[in-house]
Amino acid sequence: MKVETRACLEAWLRYSDDLRLTPLYRDRATSARGGDETPPMPPQKPVAAVANVLGKAALPPVLPVVVAPSLFDAVERVEGDSLERIREDIGDCTRCRLHRSRSKIVFGVGNPKAELVFVGEGPGHDEDVQGIPFVGRAGQLLTQIIEAMGLKRDDVYICNVVKCRPPENRTPEKDEIATCSPFLIRQLATIQPKVIVCLGNVAAQTLLGTHKGISHLRGQWFDYRGTRLIATYHTAYLLRNPNAKGEVWKDMQKVMAVLGLTPPTRKRL
Ligand code: SF4
Repeated sequence: MKVETRACLEAWLRYSDDLRLTPLYRDRATSARGGDETPPMPPQKPVAAVANVLGKAALPPVLPVVVAPSLFDAVERVEGDSLERIREDIGDCTRCRLHRSRSKIVFGVGNPKAELVFVGEGPGHDEDVQGIPFVGRAGQLLTQIIEAMGLKRDDVYICNVVKCRPPENRTPEKDEIATCSPFLIRQLATIQPKVIVCLGNVAAQTLLGTHKGISHLRGQWFDYRGTRLIATYHTAYLLRNPNAKGEVWKDMQKVMAVLGLTPPTRKRL
């Protein structure tokens, strides 16, 4: 080995030694530079070791999104996009059959610079009448969850995969989702939140491009185009299955940890 290369490597090892990044050379004594009485630290995962050096907890790892045929590829980035422009582009939309039975388009509501975005499936009856997402019973439960996290509705952004109410609240069809979801993708690209919470199967499957069910997906961190995404049960499901509230609260605690939030007081959902 060249003298310069060896000197360079030794300098890097001394630097790693200072940072105690022992996993780099577990077979090597920590006190290789001599005179260091500090006992060697037990082997740690590299991320944890770096976090300890920095004096803060490591962010939880994210799972890569394994996407089937992607909706995202079909959505071209719109230069200078804004929520107003997206709403204008939707217009009095008749792009899919859901327009026939809707009263109002339910675009989205909240802070246009929110760090946290909730994405649901589609509007229900109350939302269709008011033109605002998550205002019915399921919406009131979502508001309670947001407040239990120490936030207000105005702090976050709330929207749905499809902007028009499916008849009888049925699940949106594949082609309806494919037609409407580019607007959602543009909304997310414009807001650029730190965390996206998908509520229920449709939102999670649409953004993750998977057919897996919510019970498989919930509670794990995924990477959605550089943004942390977590899926949890839809609040409409919680109304039917209140026992699942604990699971949702666990998921929201993960979100709070990433956003550095502490709840004001312990509230029951
Ligand atoms: Fe247009 Fe979306 Fe409404 Fe379909 S659901 S009519 S694509 S706004």
